[in-house]
Amino acid sequence: MEIRNFVIIAHVDHGKSTLADRFLEITRTIPTREMKPQYLDRLELERERGITIKMAPVRMSYVLNSKTYILNLIDTPGHSDFAYEVSRALLAVEGAILLVDVSKGIQAQTLSNFRLAQQANLKIIGAVNKIDLYPTRVEKTKISLAKLIGVKPEEIYAVSAKTGEGVKELLEGAIVKIPPPKNLKSEGGNNSQALIFDSLYNDHKGVLAFTRIFSNEFLSDQSAILLSSKRKFTIKEVGYFTPDFKPALKLSEGEIGYLATGLKEPNLIKIGDTISSKETKPLIGFKEPQAVIFVSFYPTGKTNFEELENSFKRLRLNDAALSFERDSNEILGKGLKVGFLGELHFEITSERLEKEFHLEFLTTFPSVIYRIVDKNGSHYIKHPQDFKDDYIKVFQPIIRVEILTPVDYLNQILSLAKIFHLNILEINNFNEENLLITGRMPLSELIKDFSDQLKSVSMGYASFSYDLDGEEEVNIEKLEILVAGEPIPALTRLVLKNEVEKEGRVLVERLKSLLPRQQFSQALQAKVRGKIIARETIPAIYKELGNFGKNGGDRTRKMKLWKKQKRGKEKLKSMARVKISPEIFRELLKK
Ligand code: GDP
Ligand code: MG
Repeated sequence: MEIRNFVIIAHVDHGKSTLADRFLEITRTIPTREMKPQYLDRLELERERGITIKMAPVRMSYVLNSKTYILNLIDTPGHSDFAYEVSRALLAVEGAILLVDVSKGIQAQTLSNFRLAQQANLKIIGAVNKIDLYPTRVEKTKISLAKLIGVKPEEIYAVSAKTGEGVKELLEGAIVKIPPPKNLKSEGGNNSQALIFDSLYNDHKGVLAFTRIFSNEFLSDQSAILLSSKRKFTIKEVGYFTPDFKPALKLSEGEIGYLATGLKEPNLIKIGDTISSKETKPLIGFKEPQAVIFVSFYPTGKTNFEELENSFKRLRLNDAALSFERDSNEILGKGLKVGFLGELHFEITSERLEKEFHLEFLTTFPSVIYRIVDKNGSHYIKHPQDFKDDYIKVFQPIIRVEILTPVDYLNQILSLAKIFHLNILEINNFNEENLLITGRMPLSELIKDFSDQLKSVSMGYASFSYDLDGEEEVNIEKLEILVAGEPIPALTRLVLKNEVEKEGRVLVERLKSLLPRQQFSQALQAKVRGKIIARETIPAIYKELGNFGKNGGDRTRKMKLWKKQKRGKEKLKSMARVKISPEIFRELLKK
């Protein structure tokens, strides 16, 4: 039997998961009565949000010219937060269907995905999607996609993943054009090797490594080794994705499937690592995914620290990129410092903790990592509350940004660039409709709502992608927020020195309307280096009693005041623990 391994790659929402649905139908992998939209998006949150978070491999079979083909398809998440995982999946296949929505045309992730596929030496098959929506834009989109890939427009497939039009031709084209599996024989002769491109935790079988077999075969009960950690284990089970887990006798060269490792420590199974039958060189150079934003989590309400930590451990079982360590804070108590691949990763994780684990917690302002040089040398700070004012130098991470936009929005984007400290390096004509703008900007600016603002100034037509690109020195200050004279650690931020006055003012103004009101009015202050730079008052819920009447005895008055103050201290404690959701942080971070 012949094998074809491929991925579907595209910008977010261009129809990858829907196209996968049609493939599942055509190949009769899923019976029609069980079919539902975006079948491979199986997490509750994926279905709710309509996005793909986890990679979803599936094995199908198809007969073409009386020859049976095994087709291994991997549906990938399109969002840039998950680019690292996508890049590993690309190494597990020989071909990629690059999908472009005709109503949107080529967008930034189309471009970055295309480059990744090219670097991985994949056969790239271009297809334009949603032809039912905008039939008039089909030819134009075909031409620009053909130009990008370097083929003739006639070689681009036109499909509607929704109605199924053209999908059979695309699938058959993929079978014919994508080469059969190549085998990477590593030195050391006939040992077995498999590349891990994802993993999932199973209570009984331990971590299931999603793999592509590159040489020989793997059977259950065979012993194997993880090359990066040198950890040995016995394979408990091997099998395919239907997309459920279906045990098989063996997984052979060229196939995609899972190996149940029996290992209970998920951090041993790393995406990009090699599983081998004996110790040799790994299939590819392997690197850890890099967290770019950091947030501290503290339990509140009925949730305690152990529950919070255990839930994070559970989540990490299926999310190798999630990193965390213990933290404790005078006011907020025990918590966790957590690293994320991006804003979406942070939001999704918070949502899962609430919805799937029913936890109550509060979080601090999302922050990037800073490198601090002080009298003790050079070290990294991931959380603003740890920042001391006695540094010598501070360095911040920089990203390289690519924006693809219709010419009409250039001016709006140039003004946005000023606001977000985006240093534009180049503006080129990408095709007759679009400009490709390249520049560098601080990562810290990206988390201030850059993505939404770019969409909004361009009516949704501009898109961007980014890569980490070194560090630069920066002048920053620690901005603290005080309520009734007490600092609220969750609200501490690191801000550019020359923007700190403005940020302080804006922050207290916005917080005034967001923080819960108390029985009495309270001062809300912004503080930098021991100096109050902005102040607002949160009004009381009820009118304050004012004076206590002409004849109000002095003693009663003092008692009342005393009680009020006592209550005040307790309220203060609860105020310090005020929950601010990721959405509100996003609101507060807005420029
Ligand atoms: P993904 O993010 O690339 O996986 O995109 P999805 O498959 O989740 O699709 C995004 C949205 O586009 C969904 O609402 C789909 O129903 C819709 N969609 C996908 N393909 C087509 C198509 O060919 N025609 C139309 N009209 N809508 C489509
Ligand atoms: Mg999807």
